[in-house]
Amino acid sequence: MLAPTARVHRRTVAVPGVVELVMITVDSGLDGPSAVVTANLHGDECTGVGVVHRLRHLLPDRLSRGRVHLFPSLNPGGLRAGTRHLPGDERDPNRSFPGDEGGSAAERLAHALWGVLEQEQPDVVIDLHTDSTRAIPYAILDRVVRGRSRRSVDARCRELAEASGLTVLHEYPRGRYLRYGLDRSLPGALVNGPGIAAVTLEVGPRRGLDPVAVDTALIAALGVLSAAGVLDHPAPRHPSRVDGGPWRRESGPRTSQAGMLEVIAEPGELFPVGEVIARVRSLDGRTLQELTAPQRGFVVAVPDRAWAPAGTACATLAIRDD
Ligand SMILES: [Zn+2]
Repeated sequence: MLAPTARVHRRTVAVPGVVELVMITVDSGLDGPSAVVTANLHGDECTGVGVVHRLRHLLPDRLSRGRVHLFPSLNPGGLRAGTRHLPGDERDPNRSFPGDEGGSAAERLAHALWGVLEQEQPDVVIDLHTDSTRAIPYAILDRVVRGRSRRSVDARCRELAEASGLTVLHEYPRGRYLRYGLDRSLPGALVNGPGIAAVTLEVGPRRGLDPVAVDTALIAALGVLSAAGVLDHPAPRHPSRVDGGPWRRESGPRTSQAGMLEVIAEPGELFPVGEVIARVRSLDGRTLQELTAPQRGFVVAVPDRAWAPAGTACATLAIRDD
C-alpha cells in the first residue's frame, strides 16, 4: 500500500562554528519504522549524495509506512574542498562519534548529528561511503563488541546488510576493530552504544558522481530500506556479489619497496592461498616484489594510486571470517 499523504520536510541541523547540515524527511504519515540515510561524511566520497538526491524524489511515491530522514552531506565543507576530512580538522571524521560539543570540528559535527539520532531513535541507519575506482560494491558490518543485546543487534545488522544484495563483509577482528577506533565510527558507535542497527554501503569511486555507481547504491539502499520495513522494493543479488562467506575485511600484504603497484587479481574473483595477487615494478619495468595471497579470498578494492611507497597494503581483501 502506498501512503496517500507522504510529505517532504526540510530542516537544517546547526553545528555551531562549523556548518549547517541539510536534513530532508520523507514522512508517509503512517505509523511505522524510522530510517536515517547519511552520505558524504568523507567529503571526497560523493556517490551517496547522488543516492540521497534520487531517494528524495523516489520516496514520496514509494514509502508505504514510517519515515526516512536523509542527509545529503555530513561534510559539505569537505565536499566543496574535495577532502576526506572537515576543513581545518585533519582527523578522520568517521572516528568521532558520539562526538563532543567542545571538541574538534569533526567531534562537534558528530555531537550535533548524535543529538538528532538520539531524539529520533531510528530503527535503522544507512551510512553511504565509497571505496576506490577499482572495487566491487559491498556492505560493511560493524563488530558489535558491547551491549546487552549484542547478538540481536548483530543479527539485525546482518539481515539488513544481506538485503542490500551486495557482498557483505564483517569489519576487522575485534582487537583491530577497537585499535582502529572503528567503534567510534557512526555505525560503530550506534551498534555499540544505543544498539541501533546500522550498515555501511561502500559503492563507487571517489571524487565524482558515477551514474552506474549511484544506481547500484540506490538499489542496495532501497533493499535495506525494504528490510527496515518502510517500503517494498527488495534488492536483487548484485552481479558482483561474492557468496561463500562469512567474509571479513582484511588489509592485503604490504609492499617492501617503493614502485609501481600492479594489482593482478580482479576484484571479486576468488584466489587460492599463495596466488600472486600483485607485484611491484621499478620504473624501468623490473619486478621488485611479488605479493601473494595469505589465505583464500578475493580482492575487494585496489588503492587509488599507481606509485606506492614501501609499506603500502597492496589491496583491501576479503578472507573468511571464521
Ligand atoms: Zn568513507
